[in-house]
Amino acid sequence: MYVVTIGSHSSLQILHGAKKEGFNTSLITPKNRVKFYRQFQFIDEIYGYEDEDEALDYINKFSENGILIPHGSLVEYIGPERVKKIKTKIFGNRNLFEWEANQKKKMSLLKKAGIKIPEQFESPEDVDRLVIVKLPGAKGGKGYFIARNKEEVKEGLNRLISQKLIKDLDEVIIQEYVIGVPMYFQFFNSVILNRLEITGIDIRYETNIDGLRRLPSDIKIDPTLVVVGNIPAVARESLLPKVYEYGENFVNTVKELVPPGMIGPFCLESIVTDQGDIVVFEFSGRIVAGTNLYISGSPYSWLYWDEPMSVGRRIGRELKLAINSNKLDLVVT
Ligand code: AMP
Repeated sequence: MYVVTIGSHSSLQILHGAKKEGFNTSLITPKNRVKFYRQFQFIDEIYGYEDEDEALDYINKFSENGILIPHGSLVEYIGPERVKKIKTKIFGNRNLFEWEANQKKKMSLLKKAGIKIPEQFESPEDVDRLVIVKLPGAKGGKGYFIARNKEEVKEGLNRLISQKLIKDLDEVIIQEYVIGVPMYFQFFNSVILNRLEITGIDIRYETNIDGLRRLPSDIKIDPTLVVVGNIPAVARESLLPKVYEYGENFVNTVKELVPPGMIGPFCLESIVTDQGDIVVFEFSGRIVAGTNLYISGSPYSWLYWDEPMSVGRRIGRELKLAINSNKLDLVVT
């Protein structure tokens, strides 16, 4: 059986882990990256594609003997329409992709789960505090901006329209900017072991906002939030029960709203305030790139496994357990 993924995001970790769990591994990647990926012994086959249709054909080659692991770059790279045409089994719940692409649906799911979320503003006219304006899809924060008031929101939106980053205002989400520190809580919902695991915590390293503190405070530069990497974190242990409760609420709500429910890795991207509040401003319903930090396990994964367990390997382990107990259908869609 092949474990297959797209060459980007967390593909190295996914295939490294799959190999450790005894799978054949296959990578599908833009042609100009083939040389880079060839250096890794744990990748059995590499397909370089010229265009997205060819990528889809390669993925569908595995409809009988492979499982595709989705990550944040899958939809970005091959497009939502082609993703709907994937015939190969996908690890996790493919029905969640549509929710992930729509910021408004996303926030409504979190709210329904009883998770604290930032205040949201339907129109620039309603803005009465510091806000962040976000674009749709996983673009790594590109085009996002922070605005102090409604005038700045309107100016920023006009700029996005003139740069053709958006077509109309409905595409963006205007959210209260929560003051605190970011922490991204990574989980794995195991359908096979019937338990939720915390797999790690990271912080995204974003340019230029994370560089501004290096400047004297009288130099004023507008922050941008383009993700370029990740930094490891652990949380105060007293925060963890709340974090875990949020994870459980999330799993229960996804089960209700998006059958067959949450399968495998997900992440609750949060701001922790000085009141100890955890405010979740977005979720990812699949492996996040911040898990790349923990290729040989995180401070949390060791508590569950006592062996090096990246999230990539955890996916491989779940697949192996599922196959060995004739339950593969429970973890793929
Ligand atoms: P996102 O693409 O939603 O993960 O947002 C990109 C970055 O913007 C995050 O990593 C945070 O640094 C920041 N951010 C997003 N939403 C909020 C919020 N509501 N309050 C404060 N910071 C935020």
